[in-house]
Amino acid sequence: MKIEKDRVVRFHYTVSEPGQDPVESSKEREPLAILVGHGNIIPGLEKALEGREAGDSFGADVPAADAYGERRDGLTQRVPKKHFGAQRLAPGMQVVLQTNFGPRAVTIEKVGMTVVDVDLNHPMAGKDLHFDIEVVEVREATPEEIEHGHVHGDGGHHH
Ligand code: ZN
Repeated sequence: MKIEKDRVVRFHYTVSEPGQDPVESSKEREPLAILVGHGNIIPGLEKALEGREAGDSFGADVPAADAYGERRDGLTQRVPKKHFGAQRLAPGMQVVLQTNFGPRAVTIEKVGMTVVDVDLNHPMAGKDLHFDIEVVEVREATPEEIEHGHVHGDGGHHH
C-alpha cells in the first residue's frame, strides 16, 4: 500500500543538518505516526513520503522553506522575566514559553534584571534538513481519524 492522502504512516526518522551529527531520532522510541495530507508534519517531509511503501528506507533533503521556514528578522520580543519561572536563563538557550497562542519554542537572546529578550523564530527555522526515513507501516485511516485530522492508537492520540 502506497503512502497517500488519508492514509496513516508509521515511520522512523533521523534528522540532521547536512553533514552534521543527528539532531534528533525516533530510533530509540516508537515510530512516529502521522495522518498524511493533514499538516501533521513539515510539508517537505510529507512530500518525500508520498508514494513510498512499508519497508522502504530512503534519505530526503528538505530545504528550510519546506521545513520550518526561513528565519525572519524582527521577531525579537521582550518578555517579563517572571514568565520563565525559576529556571536559570542564558543566551542561546532554548525554552518553551507559554503564549496566548499556546506553547512556543523560543531562543533566549539577552537576559536582563527584569526582562528577557527572546527570538521567536522556530529553533530549526532557516535550516536545510536531511532526513533518513524508514517506513514501518502504511494503512487506511479510519473515518474518525480523518475527521479529527490525526492518528489514533499506536503512536497517535489516545482520547
Ligand atoms: Zn482524535
